[in-house]
Amino acid sequence: MGSPRNKCPHCGHAMQIRNSNSEHPLMRAMYLQCTNIICGATFRGNLELTHTLSPSASPNPDINLPLADASIRRLAQAKPQPKKTDA
Ligand SMILES: [Zn+2]
Repeated sequence: MGSPRNKCPHCGHAMQIRNSNSEHPLMRAMYLQCTNIICGATFRGNLELTHTLSPSASPNPDINLPLADASIRRLAQAKPQPKKTDA
C-alpha cells in the first residue's frame, strides 16, 4: 500500500505503510516508512474512525459513532489531489 497522500513530514516524499495493528475496533496503529533512501525516516501513527457517513446495514451494537455533519460530508466529496508521478 502507501497512498501518495501519506507524505514524509521531513522531506515530503511518499511514505509506505510497513505494518499496522488494531488496538481498538475504531483505532489502528500504523508504522510508516519514508521511501526517500536519503531520508529513511520511520513513524508510528493512528488511523481512527471518528464519524459515520453512511450507517451499516449490519450494525454492531457496541459501535456508536456520531453521524458526520454537513462540513465533514463536503470534505468527503472533495476532489483528491492530482497524483504526482515522482514518488
Ligand atoms: Zn522523508
